[in-house]
Amino acid sequence: MATETHCPYCSLQCGMRLAGRRTPEVSAWEEFPVNQGALCRKGWAAAGLYGGRERLTSPLVRDRGTGEWSAVSWDDALDRVADGIRAAQASGGPDRVAVFGGGGLTNEKAYALGKLARVALGTSQIDYNGRWCMSSAASAGIRAFGLDRGLPFPLVDVEETDVLVLVGSNLAETMPPAARHLDRLRERGGKVVVIDPRRTPTADRADLHLQPVPGTDLALALGLLHLLAAAGAVDPAYLAERTTGWEDVRDSVASWWPERVERVTGIEAHELRALAAMLGRSPRVMVLTARGAEQHSTGSDTVLAWINVALALGMVGRRGAGYGCLTGQGNGQGGREHGQKADQLPGYRRIDDPAARAHVAGVWGVEPDSLPGPGRSAYELLDALGTPDGPSALLVLGSNIVVSAPRATHVTSRLEALDLLVVCDIVMSETAALADVVLPVTQWAEETGTMTNLEGRVVLRQRAVTPPSGVRSDLEVIAGLAERLGSAASFPTDPEEVFAELGRASAGGPADYSAITYDRIRDEKGVFWGGERLFADAFAHPDGRARMHAVEHRGAAEQPCADYPVHLTTGRVLAQYQSGAQTRRVRSLPDDGPFVELHPLLAGRIGVGQGDVVRVATRRGEMTAPAKVVPTIRPDTVFVPFHWVGANRLTNDALDPASRMPEFKVCAASVVAHA
Ligand code: SF4
Repeated sequence: MATETHCPYCSLQCGMRLAGRRTPEVSAWEEFPVNQGALCRKGWAAAGLYGGRERLTSPLVRDRGTGEWSAVSWDDALDRVADGIRAAQASGGPDRVAVFGGGGLTNEKAYALGKLARVALGTSQIDYNGRWCMSSAASAGIRAFGLDRGLPFPLVDVEETDVLVLVGSNLAETMPPAARHLDRLRERGGKVVVIDPRRTPTADRADLHLQPVPGTDLALALGLLHLLAAAGAVDPAYLAERTTGWEDVRDSVASWWPERVERVTGIEAHELRALAAMLGRSPRVMVLTARGAEQHSTGSDTVLAWINVALALGMVGRRGAGYGCLTGQGNGQGGREHGQKADQLPGYRRIDDPAARAHVAGVWGVEPDSLPGPGRSAYELLDALGTPDGPSALLVLGSNIVVSAPRATHVTSRLEALDLLVVCDIVMSETAALADVVLPVTQWAEETGTMTNLEGRVVLRQRAVTPPSGVRSDLEVIAGLAERLGSAASFPTDPEEVFAELGRASAGGPADYSAITYDRIRDEKGVFWGGERLFADAFAHPDGRARMHAVEHRGAAEQPCADYPVHLTTGRVLAQYQSGAQTRRVRSLPDDGPFVELHPLLAGRIGVGQGDVVRVATRRGEMTAPAKVVPTIRPDTVFVPFHWVGANRLTNDALDPASRMPEFKVCAASVVAHA
């Protein structure tokens, strides 16, 4: 008997069936609407996560003197962690203990982790790796619409638009089942525009591909809106009735002539005019951004600029049109709604809102004043570890920081400066290898929990596989720690019970899950929070209008110079996912290691041929990898995939002022043949 569940990886959360309690087999679940039975290579190979020799099945503690690992009982491990937490707190108060979560954790885990931090630990120091994924789009969405839901409509609506503009998305490679919608759109006669410094498999499907200088998507949007306004292509009635701020925005783009845009972005004026003409004459335009546009120190403003384009055309709230963000991580959406963010309480409530604090404290059975205030954002939290004013103990769930953090060598040194590092994981990840205590936990289909996909559809990942003996769920770990720390609140371990409590805590908040139940999710094959389509009649600001924000192009924090003459950008490849802690261990997925993609002109200039080892260096570190010489990338740019240790030693920790998103997507680098 097969169980209906969902893929362990990305935000599409494709439905699949799993049969076999110990060595499962994946089969298609055609009735699940998002992917209709289609899976990408990673999804078909997901059962390879089971049966690996590297699976941890016993708590481990590390002797700092010898570096040796010893297996210990669960009681011993949790006692040590609780003792370490108490010691850290005794040395400087609750904020000496920090918690770092992940955008792949279920809603139940994200919620319980936030509650653990605020109630059992009393610390403000909690954030998660989703800060590095969608936070710029989230910040912009809240400012513009009053609400952040990645896609405010089902993904299938893509097929109904007339022009789809993908800004910094390579969905054909990162979530291949979604690419069917592009194909169907084009079969209908619709157009696809891709804006990306690389000609990716997604760009290969495009009717128009613009290849701007990395970090200049904002200037491109300003120039586009300049042309649309000049051509009278904006929708005055919509702007008057449904938005505020248009006059300021119109004035702010007045000086962004196509020739100026060309100087900044490298996009020739005639290409920009072609795009403006395409958009100006289309009844329905949809703009979707992803990490390529968002992971910048100007990411929030970049998204706001593209939202301005969609609003000016009168598209947002219309069916088959509008703006959306293509979330990346499996529970990137739900993970940012239920309290593992530094500034947030469940239901997407703000932690500095007295009414929100009172409501959530009531559900938790504690005094509102006992809840801490906002803490540090993800990178700032890691940067503070082991410093005189920072946390000296860290609990990590669902994140492989050593591979995925920007300026990773520095972050690794901060982890090494801790008095106590505790990592919950399924394998000895690069981060777990630095820990004092590693707690082996259940994974994916060994446990039940909800995920919220990129459309805001809450889905149920049902348990289908028997976990190995010796492991515990993250919920059990959280409850075990809370009990040892004498928590005033109870921490249930049954996921459905946790979900019901999450619903009560979120009730009345921007992301209200109170009407969603496991039974409804099963019956309806996923339930959209807030409704299937948002903003048809009103936006979530008190006056119902969207806010347009005049934003300025600032450029990347680091520009090429004599020592670092090219742009470095990073991203994903088809067969791997995020830090690779899972996919690199699936034997049926190819793991060819990192590579450095560069243009033949650049390769020729530095005397490098296909497969030769090159050294890429930035102000923060260096790495070596074989050259992949392709004509599909800009000659002034190199690309490195981030699934292996290396890429993030190079990336820049400059932060977006609004979202605190690091500038993963562009920095200045040198590339030379490796001696
Ligand atoms: Fe899994 Fe994403 Fe692939 Fe779907 S597209 S099978 S959710 S990795």
